[in-house]
Amino acid sequence: MARPRICPMIRAKKYGTIAAIAIAALLILKFILLDRSPVPETSPEAVNLKLVRALARASRGELPQSLHVLIIAEGAFPKSAVIAGEGLFKKKPMVFDSFQAVFADKKTVIIDTAMDAAGVEKMSKGMPFFADRYAAMQTAMTKAERIILTHEHPDHMGGIGKTEAMDKIKDRLLLTKEQIDDPYRDKSYFTEDNIRAISSVKPLEYDPYFSPAPGIVLIRAAGHSAGSQMIYVALKNGEEYLFVGDIVWSMENLEKLKGKPYLMNAAGFLKEDRAKVAAQIRFLHNLTADPENKVHVVVAHDLEQIKDYIARGIVAEGFQ
Ligand SMILES: [Zn+2]
Repeated sequence: MARPRICPMIRAKKYGTIAAIAIAALLILKFILLDRSPVPETSPEAVNLKLVRALARASRGELPQSLHVLIIAEGAFPKSAVIAGEGLFKKKPMVFDSFQAVFADKKTVIIDTAMDAAGVEKMSKGMPFFADRYAAMQTAMTKAERIILTHEHPDHMGGIGKTEAMDKIKDRLLLTKEQIDDPYRDKSYFTEDNIRAISSVKPLEYDPYFSPAPGIVLIRAAGHSAGSQMIYVALKNGEEYLFVGDIVWSMENLEKLKGKPYLMNAAGFLKEDRAKVAAQIRFLHNLTADPENKVHVVVAHDLEQIKDYIARGIVAEGFQ
């Protein structure tokens, strides 16, 4: 029996409706996963900077006299993965780096340790890696008074995870309980021996502020990870810095008041506490938008920002 013929007009209308529904579904999905990143009007997570400044100057020792950076690797990420609502095909310059505060008596404190060549290649394939600078950071770690981290992710802790000098740096590590307990989701960024050594470090417990050295204050800021903290640094010359780790991945996030896209969490990659991070973004947005603000916010992965700070003499390139 011959099949009844569907009028071409009706068929076209049917496919047109299906296509419209599919496009609408894709747009909703894009909105949820890539575009949306709500930030509250006020920030209950606000940092009491007055108290932090007082704490930084509470001990009798001299404040550090200079701040240095080593750019360990630099490249670019898709901008849509860095800032919610950005174009799908734009790129954002990114960096993996390590910082060093230097005191007049040559004592040093290192903030964040990037990761080795294999770690960079795994996290960001093809990104240029500067082996000589990574080696310089490893040497500097063996002489530092303290090694502290904005958080326990491998691109900040990997330099400890893969160090061949654990016997020399172990007693210099100042890590919180979360930073000791939580970083091993992917053990490839650590050696087994180093995991054992890190696990035996006596954890630092504080809430909400702690000064490990003159001019330096740790500020609890769980959200991006359980062990996330902001690190305030005041230099003798009056310059002030606030290391915000990965609360955002670029200054543009703060300017636009937009966090990372939800996709980075939905895909299981980050597992952030989004509400806490959003409140921190509100605090940092208000701080950086304040014309009276003198604190240099340092976003861990913002290559454009760090190159600007180096060019303006706010941070010196190369460790001492
Ligand atoms: Zn990071």
